[in-house]
Amino acid sequence: LSDRLADTFRNLRTKGKLSAADVDGTVREIRRALLEADVSLDVVKAFTAKVRDRALGNEVSKALNPAQQVVQIVNEELVGILGGQHRRLQFAKKPPTVIMLAGLQGAGKTTLAGKLAKWLVKDGHTPMLVAADLQRPNAVNQLQVVGSQAGVHVFAPEPGNGVGDPVRVAKDAVKYAERQQYDTVIVDTAGRLGVDAELMKQAANIRKAVDPDEVLFVIDAMIGQDAVATAKAFQDGVDFTGVVLSKLDGDARGGAALSVASVTGRPIIFASTGESLDDFEPFHPDRMASRILDLGDMLTLIEQAQEAFDEDEARKVAEKIASDQFTLDDFLGQMQQLRGAGSLKKMIGMLPGAGQMKQQLDQFDEKEIVRTEAIIQSMTPAERKNHKLLNGSRRLRIARGSGMTVTDVNQLIARFEQAAKMMRTVARGGVPQIPGMGPI
Ligand code: GDP
Ligand code: MG
Repeated sequence: LSDRLADTFRNLRTKGKLSAADVDGTVREIRRALLEADVSLDVVKAFTAKVRDRALGNEVSKALNPAQQVVQIVNEELVGILGGQHRRLQFAKKPPTVIMLAGLQGAGKTTLAGKLAKWLVKDGHTPMLVAADLQRPNAVNQLQVVGSQAGVHVFAPEPGNGVGDPVRVAKDAVKYAERQQYDTVIVDTAGRLGVDAELMKQAANIRKAVDPDEVLFVIDAMIGQDAVATAKAFQDGVDFTGVVLSKLDGDARGGAALSVASVTGRPIIFASTGESLDDFEPFHPDRMASRILDLGDMLTLIEQAQEAFDEDEARKVAEKIASDQFTLDDFLGQMQQLRGAGSLKKMIGMLPGAGQMKQQLDQFDEKEIVRTEAIIQSMTPAERKNHKLLNGSRRLRIARGSGMTVTDVNQLIARFEQAAKMMRTVARGGVPQIPGMGPI
């Protein structure tokens, strides 16, 4: 999807104003791109019709830059379909809040239970997990592992009590939570490999028994065209109040999100982005839209950067970058400020084309900042001002002084040069070019 759209926008950029023919051509490309991304046909049709209408209206004729305007329209329509604004988790007026998870086997429910619990704990809640997946022998155990990673209590049926009844377990768990004053109960349920009447009935019964405040339908973002049928089956069989899109760390860039949101009318509330319990975040339609377009999550980047930098700082840095005076000191200062805005790794991940920088990203963690600090602080002021001074013997001295290896020092300098180059491009009003991708 992304490549195609990028191509389309690139083509547009070379033209002056948009004609009706241009719009039609563009819309055709967008339709094809969305279909290739496994967005359902009905959704694609409705979407492109809207974009076409708007593009042919007077909005485009007032163009600053036709391509920007089409991007804007496509983006706005995508955001609209994805639910507009972020929808927050709903809590019960009278605790405990009951959150039930539903979805196919392997969708990521059990993992999500742990992620959600950890996230809630950070937010001052006292969640408890409930093992109501008694289908697979190992399911209870898996939830217990996840629960201990999140540091929360797991309510599970006593072993040896015969085959458990998940409805019963869920009911007992809510009573237990009331007594023990857990304020949130997260009910993990069984899934099957495919849509299955018996499974639906079980989930529906659990829902009836515990009357959850939220029923979250968990769906694998990689599921493709099956997303629509699966989501509809769960909506009819169990119904849900919100969607969690899992495995967004994979190659799928949002086709499923678009289909599910549009077909069910239910908001996507969270995104799951990896196997670790921290790979989890509230879902933001605007950010997803720009991710689908592969323009990078610029909105988030800009938002976070604004939190971290006060305006003066930012202007100074921009001037320095534009005039090639960006130094290692500035680099360090920037890293330190960015740290306040959240994980640097995530921020870099939002840059356009970052999908291709995965390997680099994985090396870019918080520890990196600490190492960077150590290395840069071992440099002389002159070296920090002009990294070109850093010859072999200086690098060796810095490595020794900071307790790092020369390779560490070399890598840092390479990264600095790369960052400086990228920022220079941005500061001059250009679009950063990722190797092998061309301008975005
Ligand atoms: P369940 O059957 O719905 O309970 O799914 P699980 O929580 O057991 O997850 C199935 C597999 O997907 C496990 O191997 C998880 O580690 C993995 N998984 C879950 N969520 C994510 C995610 O967001 N990204 C990735 N890459 N893997 C995930
Ligand atoms: Mg499970």
